[in-house]
Amino acid sequence: MDRETPLPDWFQEGLLFVGNWEPLIFRRRAGFAHVDEEAIYEAEHSEETLRTLREAGINLVITHFHKGFGREAEREEIERTRRFIALAHQHGLRVGVYIRFDAVAGETYDLEAPEAPSWRQRDARGQGATYPGQDFRQVMCPNQPGYLDRVEALVHLAAGELDADLLHFDGFWWGTAEPCHCPACLQAFRTFLRERYPDAKARIERFGHPHIEQLTPPTLPAAQFPAVVLNPLHQEWIAFRCETFRRVHARLAAAVKSHGPHVAMEFNALVPVEENGPLRRGVSIPAMAPRNDAFWTESRNDPRLEPDGRLISRVREYKYAEALNNVCFSYVRGTDAAQIRRSFGEVLAFNNGQGAMLGSPHLAHEPFAPLLTRWARFYRSHHDLYAGTESAAQVAVLRHEPTLRLNSGEPYQAAHLFEQLLLEAHIPFRLLFAEDLARLPAPAERLRLLILPEVACLNEAEAAAITAFVRDGGGVVMTGDTSLYDPWYRLRPDYLLRELLGPDVPRPRESMRSFHFALVDERPAVLPGIMRRSYGRGRVVYAARIEPVAPGALWRAPARALEWLEAVRWAAGPLEVEVHAPREVLCEVRRRTGAPPGYRVHLVNLAGHSWRQAVTVTFAPPELPQPQAWRARALDPDRDEELEVPVLERAAGSGGARRWELIVPELAAYTLVALDPVA
Ligand SMILES: [Zn+2]
Repeated sequence: MDRETPLPDWFQEGLLFVGNWEPLIFRRRAGFAHVDEEAIYEAEHSEETLRTLREAGINLVITHFHKGFGREAEREEIERTRRFIALAHQHGLRVGVYIRFDAVAGETYDLEAPEAPSWRQRDARGQGATYPGQDFRQVMCPNQPGYLDRVEALVHLAAGELDADLLHFDGFWWGTAEPCHCPACLQAFRTFLRERYPDAKARIERFGHPHIEQLTPPTLPAAQFPAVVLNPLHQEWIAFRCETFRRVHARLAAAVKSHGPHVAMEFNALVPVEENGPLRRGVSIPAMAPRNDAFWTESRNDPRLEPDGRLISRVREYKYAEALNNVCFSYVRGTDAAQIRRSFGEVLAFNNGQGAMLGSPHLAHEPFAPLLTRWARFYRSHHDLYAGTESAAQVAVLRHEPTLRLNSGEPYQAAHLFEQLLLEAHIPFRLLFAEDLARLPAPAERLRLLILPEVACLNEAEAAAITAFVRDGGGVVMTGDTSLYDPWYRLRPDYLLRELLGPDVPRPRESMRSFHFALVDERPAVLPGIMRRSYGRGRVVYAARIEPVAPGALWRAPARALEWLEAVRWAAGPLEVEVHAPREVLCEVRRRTGAPPGYRVHLVNLAGHSWRQAVTVTFAPPELPQPQAWRARALDPDRDEELEVPVLERAAGSGGARRWELIVPELAAYTLVALDPVA
């Protein structure tokens, strides 16, 4: 997706960072301060610490600023942050500062903002909410102007007076999934509806009656919403919450950027690849991304192979950020060295050339400090191999938020399973969002296959773009209800993508029409195989369902994996780079964006042992003229020397492109294969 403000220049150095964003006041009040906390805290801020960080290749520290106790209560520590920023800048480090958005600690915050109790969220029964497990932190309402003014003032203090380089908004969500019924929300919700449905005709079509002044936010807790949200008021409430946050974000981002394009805007709203973030937290990350620089994932998907065969990773989260031209902030963490290596390797492979957070500023005291430092130095000293590259994926999975925000079930499962299929088959992929459909690259360019997992709520323009993509030679794989509903989840007279589907896919019929929603689904779960057909110059694959091998088994390739894979490969056609590797190896292929052309093949090994000659890479670059030879080097952060790998020419690929092949001699935890033409 396109950006409206450029990423800060210094992001190009590649971010490798540490953090100590919990101030002393919070460590004490929350009850996790150690006996010697003050000494620990002192050391975190010392010049010695900064020197060590710089030597290890760290270029950013995210530190405490405003946890929600109020500027008075946190004054001393804010002053400390001011001095720390100045010192860090002297040592060539950037500093980000923490602002907690969703909650404040009323016991001190209210002393300096006596109106604050009226800025808190309240549910339909007038009850407020507190942060889970910490009842001294009250959840605030993002529609309260008084509260927003104070948050914006914090931005100007941090980015202006204190000279911070990055604003980290934690808890950048509604704080509770419950509808807020404060007077500001009630009024804003009705205004939102009035603007979207300006006349009686539009209101009647949407709600059955025109009386918007009678409508209130839902009284039902979000946890009790059905998987598919059909109630139009509930749908509008989800949209209203996302729009509220888009507006709040735009205001705060403008405040941040008013201090210069080098100041970064970053938030934590969790990455909704597994559950319905717009419903649960009231935020749409794609809506905020064009004016945002980075966001966090805090998922538990640390890369690993479980004894039961589940192959778990954070790959989706990294790809989500990459597709939005944002940077994914993530932790390298683990309780043993092998997990640290897997996490760090996954970051190096999949985080779009960026690093991650390695621990506290006390890096030297982290349990795996020598390992972290060695890998950090490797990344820093080989940064030229990470920078200036882009995904070489020719397959894309559509993460269609208009559908995903209304259906918390099937579309998430189907997307997850397709992504898992591609990962386990080592077919590089990227994610696309609804906004990207408006300018799908021509199939002749890199993208060859678009996967539509249960994309029920496509609109006309999106369907037209997809149809044109296939007509011009692209491939599409789709399942189930894709294009069967409109953006309000109303059943269409027929699939919007009927032209692509052809006549053989029946539309589900309704039983007892106008009484309930039972559909009589006559689509065979398995059409004759998985249906394939040609359309224009392109190819279409359809099946009624993609299913897990066992209920809930989302971290394994789906049922009928081989058949699916054959269909995917047929629809995609020959790919530029093919990797053959064991299932436990995650693979990412990137292409140099500048001249000369080149590839970076990243391999992350989740098996508990090394592999010898188990990974084969073949590639057929489309660029002409072709070099006479290729040079391949295999690099491993745990090895001092890089290995030269022979690259052999094979029979020509399709279309006459020359095809080359190499075998990776050894793979321990992580290997980067750099492929460059020989001049
Ligand atoms: Zn409210």
